[in-house]
Amino acid sequence: MPHPTRREFLARTAPAAAAFASVPRFARAFRTLQDGVDGERLASRMEAIARIGATPEGAFRTAGSDADLAAREAFTGWLEEAGFAVRTDLAGNLIGRLPGTDSSLPPLLTGSHLDSVPAGGNFDGVAGSIASLEAAAAIAASGAPLRHPLEVVDFFNEENGKTGSRALAGEVTPEEMDLPVYGGLTLGQALARVGGSPERITEAALEPGHYAGFLELHVEQSPTLATEGIDIGVVEGIVGIRRFRVRVSGFANHAGTTAMGIRRDALVTAGRFLVAVHEETQAWPGRQVATVGRIEAHPGAPNVIPGAVDLTLEIRDLRMETIEALYQRFQELGREIARRNQTDITFEQYYLSRAAPCDPLFIDTLEAAAESLGVSNVRMPSGAGHDAQSIAVLAPVGMIFVPSRDGISHSPREFTSVADITSGARVLLESLRRLDGALD
Ligand SMILES: [Zn+2]
Repeated sequence: MPHPTRREFLARTAPAAAAFASVPRFARAFRTLQDGVDGERLASRMEAIARIGATPEGAFRTAGSDADLAAREAFTGWLEEAGFAVRTDLAGNLIGRLPGTDSSLPPLLTGSHLDSVPAGGNFDGVAGSIASLEAAAAIAASGAPLRHPLEVVDFFNEENGKTGSRALAGEVTPEEMDLPVYGGLTLGQALARVGGSPERITEAALEPGHYAGFLELHVEQSPTLATEGIDIGVVEGIVGIRRFRVRVSGFANHAGTTAMGIRRDALVTAGRFLVAVHEETQAWPGRQVATVGRIEAHPGAPNVIPGAVDLTLEIRDLRMETIEALYQRFQELGREIARRNQTDITFEQYYLSRAAPCDPLFIDTLEAAAESLGVSNVRMPSGAGHDAQSIAVLAPVGMIFVPSRDGISHSPREFTSVADITSGARVLLESLRRLDGALD
């Protein structure tokens, strides 16, 4: 798809700008702080972002695209309107800051991401960004600032490698800048377009303790909340992931002349192994998941007994210890099955993503805040990665999930109601207020 010029994008977003300009500005006294979260304004801003980069195939607000730039420009305007001082850091993160009453305290951080996957939707990332903005604007307008400085962030390039948040954690290497991103740019070019610095990316890293804490609201991307009719999910953590290459070795031989009793069929071993993985994982207490996602038999001919099979094994859980214990068990089961079938099995890890548990104080605070507002809630793990996972190495983190209709995401069909995002924004606001009192 050809990239529209910046001017074309701005022309396209002009009607949206007019639509939200008519929303009354916000300077009255509220009965409660929660009244400062304005559902109509939230809706109009979600809509304004949705118009940016909209195509019949879905949203194209990929990192560093003209649409990304236009969305960031709109977000900057709203932050400034709410009284925040806005900057872009070396890693391309767009950050608005409101001073607190105690300048010696580290800031509280909230936010998400405005970028989308190619042909994506308008809720993944955007719901959290606009909800954070709304909660922060309510605090700014209340006339009762927090003790801590408050920062609202739109993380750069969440969808294609969490570049912005990982850079803050010191996890982005200069070599990554040469990787391609959508739209014919390198990551470094995309970063330069949003005002970051590819040459100085490693300097974006922050010391642990730089932030007092981070709160992110995000769409669930699974159907649990929507199916069970629960308003919000209080995330217990982001699951860890380990992936392994598994190779089963047997002996390739003639499929017509080799009697069944003397075969060393690698695919039979692989088949029994993947069923064992499925059944064993289900039999354990807990919410761990394990998947054999790809399988390839060699030589892969209808008239040859498979002599070797390559398969992938992936294990996810909130506790790395559970992943390790399952992996040990899978190795035992695999060796046992392989031996019975006169074959061999080997395992090699090729991918690791550490679990990022949410902070217990943040979990309790989110729950108590939801209860105080009459918002129904349930604790749950996050099976997908988020910016909060990177920030968890710098500061305690908490996450709120809002319901995803049918559990769909990374698709133009993703949907979360404004009412649900508004409830989530109120819980976010109340939690920020409570954490501001509880944290140093
Ligand atoms: Zn996201």
